[in-house]
This record gives sequence, structure tokens and C-alpha cells, in this order.
Amino acid sequence: MEKIRISVVFFYFVLGKYDFLPTSPIESSDVSNFIDDWDYRIEPHNIPLLNFSSTNHDLPPPPKIHNIQYLVKKKKKPVLPKKMGNAAYSIVDCKWCNLGVSMLLDEIKRGASYDAIKDNVTKMCVDFGINTKEVCAGIFDVYGRTVLAAAKKAHINAKQICSLVLGEACGELIKNPLHQWNVTFPDVPKPPVHSKSLIRGLPTYKVLHISDTHLDPNYAEGSVSNCLEPLCCRNESSEGIADPIFAGKWGAYAKCDSPRILIENMLKHITEQHPDIDFIFWTGDLPPHDIWKQTKQYNLDIIKETTQQMIEHFPSIPIFPAIGNHESVPAGTFAPPWVEEDNSTSWLFNELLNHWKRWLPDSSTTTIQRGGFYSVLLRPKLRLISMNTNYCHTYNWWLLVNSTDPAKELKWLIHELQKAENNNEKVLLIGHIPPGSYDCMKVWSENFYRIVARYESTITAQFYGHTHADEFQLFYDPSDLSRPINIAYLGPSVTTFENHNPAYRIYYIDGDHPKSTGHVIDHETWTMNLEEANKNGEPKWYRLYSALRDLDMESLLPEDWNNFLKKMVNIPDAFHQFYRYYYRDSPARPKCDNKCKLQILCDLRSGRSHIRHTICHDLEEKFGSNE
Ligand SMILES: [Zn+2]
Ligand SMILES: [Zn+2]
Repeated sequence: MEKIRISVVFFYFVLGKYDFLPTSPIESSDVSNFIDDWDYRIEPHNIPLLNFSSTNHDLPPPPKIHNIQYLVKKKKKPVLPKKMGNAAYSIVDCKWCNLGVSMLLDEIKRGASYDAIKDNVTKMCVDFGINTKEVCAGIFDVYGRTVLAAAKKAHINAKQICSLVLGEACGELIKNPLHQWNVTFPDVPKPPVHSKSLIRGLPTYKVLHISDTHLDPNYAEGSVSNCLEPLCCRNESSEGIADPIFAGKWGAYAKCDSPRILIENMLKHITEQHPDIDFIFWTGDLPPHDIWKQTKQYNLDIIKETTQQMIEHFPSIPIFPAIGNHESVPAGTFAPPWVEEDNSTSWLFNELLNHWKRWLPDSSTTTIQRGGFYSVLLRPKLRLISMNTNYCHTYNWWLLVNSTDPAKELKWLIHELQKAENNNEKVLLIGHIPPGSYDCMKVWSENFYRIVARYESTITAQFYGHTHADEFQLFYDPSDLSRPINIAYLGPSVTTFENHNPAYRIYYIDGDHPKSTGHVIDHETWTMNLEEANKNGEPKWYRLYSALRDLDMESLLPEDWNNFLKKMVNIPDAFHQFYRYYYRDSPARPKCDNKCKLQILCDLRSGRSHIRHTICHDLEEKFGSNE
């Protein structure tokens, strides 16, 4: 899970506690500096990238009915109870946020110097037991200049900042035109929605989805895995407050990322097990979680190494990447184009373009350099759009200045989708941060939801990573929340961080034939048992489940996922089965009580962020009290 939250609390909590000597006044900034006049109407890419002939990949056998009983018998007793990583912010966070940010803004206004802030913040961070001195000072070194520069430019008060960053837990945003905006649609009526049906036995694309590798070049077997720092399993890791648990050869279930040999072993297994993959979704988060000591060069080296691993193992398979929040430094910071050169993200976009251009057409250069997104025609009538969803990240500090459609990405998306609709193309959307996640800004998420609703007959499915769990998010008709219209698949992470078994995903997508719908026909999650691999010396990768066969589904259309979700609400064993898969059957998965169940089930309904109070009433009534 994302550990940037540590730094958020760190800044908001600690900065508010100290008096700083005024040395310079707050800069007054002109709002017109933040306006972006990019012409998003670029020519769409219209030459199909893929030229293989149709392949009819074997799908798993038809569903076995009522296999849940079998799973119930096999159910393992959960151990190592831990806090759910994806928990929404509590009201306590909101109070601290308001207090801390008010004081921080006040100090900036009074002109505290950078060094004075750093010394005081580090001391307070240690005094309050937030983390070690090294981590506290390191986080300030990595984040300080960006956060302070953005805070100085922002025309926004503390309450509004907390509302933007923490979402619904902090109440509705007070009126501010830079943070309340709506995308506009072309004056073309939405086409009528036809009921969808899938025909089996026709050609399918076999698609590999790899996400959140988080390679740790400093992973050390035998080091402490339950340390105090945000990332452990390194020679320098401190001992935690409990007895030390030592890192295994292939990884550890605690706050540890992927050793190099784990990624190598998985990629080798994939090439042997799946020689017939047609193309690959690669949804980001390549560097590890050592966010308090990262530099641009360090991240670029990891990106280069991981890209090289992918190229070596899949030299002739097209790969379609999306950017993770951890690719940037400070992690999560993606400057919109109106931010001046010194603070821009072009260092990252240019380097990614160098790596990605081997798989992508020249036409994608403009948008990748601009903001790390692109659109390509895969085959006639099938398009792929890769979004940089970090432009909705609540810890993307520049958005405090102006969160209005950063990089005009959503305007561009509408333009691409309208062209696709005009040409009868189907669209697969990929990205890193799922738009319904709590750390995707509400206003961006609302606008994205409207776009998915408008183009529901064009977008067939969406594919993300970031949460590290094996899960999904459903999209509903905004005017009829009982009608599911789209599905976002959140692929499992390769990293174990935290408590997961490493995994990857295979999709079978309706393929290259005249009546292709572009819908996902089935998906499979493949994993290995880390505990056994560390004991026995070698990982044994295996297919954990197929959605059609093991979740007992007729097809994988949004209404089928909605029915499956209803089943999980009403049948405890169905939820327990899903929960096993969520952690890929990891023996370290926490026990899931009613609160955890409510959290996960509501997440699955949330294609849109920060509307839990609106859409999860019935779940709150059913699971509101703990077991
Ligand atoms: Zn990640
Ligand atoms: Zn992420």
C-alpha cells in the first residue's frame, strides 16, 4: 500500500506546531499563471499497431456450480492481524489536518526559512514518535521544497486543503473555482445503450497484466522485515518494537518490496507458462517504497532496470505501460504543464518516452511528453488509452494550486473517446491509480465518472493497479445508481507489500473477429506461496483462480460483477472466498471483521471516490457493527 500517507500526516501534523522566524514574505501569485492553453484536439492514431493473425486462446472450462463449499473446507485460519492498508481517513485525521495546515500556512505567510522549518519539523517528527530521525529528515529533504513551493502559490485555505486531500471525511469543499470544475462534452447525443451478450468459442486476445513490481535493489535476505522505517528488509533496517522477523530469500510479508530474483523468477515462469501472450498491460509503480531517500537518478535507474527486464523476457510482445505514482520524486508529484521548468516533471516523461517508444507509435510522443498519457489503435476497431491518473492523486501537491483538469488530460480523453465512438471503435482504458480510490481527488473522479457514463458503449473495461489487492471497482449510471455500466479491474501487485503473495493477471479479451465486443471474457490470477518458496528454495507459480470458473459467473459484464457483489453481501462464504483471492491466499492476510468487510465491499462499488456516504448506506446498516 501507499506510504506517502505518512508524509502527509507528517507535514500536516508537525509543521503546525512550531514558530519560525520570518525571513521572507509569502509570494503573491497570479492565478492566470496557472492557466493551460494546450490544444487537446490532436489527430488520433489510426494505424493498427498489432499485426498478428487471430489466435483462439483456450478458455478455462465452463463454471463448476457451487464450488464454494469446497473452498470453505479448505479455508485457512487467518493470522497476523493488521490494519487494513486502504482504510479511509478518519475524522481524527481531518481535525489534525485542519490544525496543522492552518499553522503551516500561517508560518509561510510570516516568512519562515526553509532550514528553520526543516530543523523544527525533524525534531518534532522524532519527538512525536512518527519515525526515526533519518526518515523524518529524509522525508523533508525529498518533499519539503515541493510542498512549500506549492503551498506558497495556492489561493486556498486550510479547510479547503484538507477537504481536497482527505475528501469526504473533511466535508464538502468550500467554493473555489480552481477546485470546482466540470468537463464539457461535444454536442453529440449519447447513442442508445444496447444489451450486451458474449459468444464463446470465437478468437480472444490473451493479455498479461503486471502491476506494482516495486523492485528493491537493496533487498537483503536475513535482514529485519518488521522494522520501524516505512520500508524494511534492508541491511540498514532497524529492529522494530516486536521480536525481529527475518527476510526470506524470495521476499517477506511485512513492509518489504520485491527482491530482484523474485521479479526475474516470475518473468521467466510467465515466458514458459504463457508463450502465447498477445500484448501486455504494465500499470506502473516500479521503484520501491523508500520514499524518504529517493532521488530522481535513483528512480530513473530502477525504471531502466525494470524496463530492461521486461524487454529481455518479452522481446517481441507489445507492452503498453501506464505511470505509477512511485515513478516520480517526490513520490506522487506530477506537475501540470503550467508549473515552471525547475519543478516540472519533464525529467520523468522524457525518460519514459525513451523507454516506451519501442512499443508505441510516434504519434504518442506529444501526449507522453506533455503528461505521460497516450492513445493507440491496437487493431481495427480496438483502441487502448493509457491515462496518467496521478493527475488526480490527492498527494500531488501542485493540485493544491489549481486542480482543474491537469494537463487537460480529461478534455483530451473526451476528444479521443468521441473520435472512437464516431469510428465504432471499442476502447480499453489503462492507468495506475483507480479513479474510485480514496486517494483520487473527488472533483477529478466525478468528472471521470461522467465521461465513463457518456461513453459507456465505447469503453469496454478499465485496468489499474496501485492498491496491491486483487479486486475491482464498479461504475454505475449516475442517474440510476442501480444500473452497472462499467468495470475497472485492479490487478494484483507483484510486490508482497503488505501481506500479499506476489501475483500477476491474465485476461482473455474478445478478439480479432468482425463481431468483437472488446469485452473481457475471463481473467485468471496467478500466484505463488511465498512462505513455501522461502522454506523450499524455489517458487511454484500456479493459477489461483479463474473468474468464470471459480467465482461461478456466467460472464464478466458489469451486471455480472454487480450480481457477484450482491452475492458477497449476502453469502459470507462468497466474501471469504473473494477475500482469500484479494491477498492471493497469503497466510499473513489480516482477519477480516465486519468493518473490514464493509470497507472492501464499499470499495468494490466505488468507481467514483468519496461518495461512500451516498452509495454504501445499505452496507453500513448490514455491517456497521463489528462481529
Ligand atoms: Zn504500488
Ligand atoms: Zn501506486
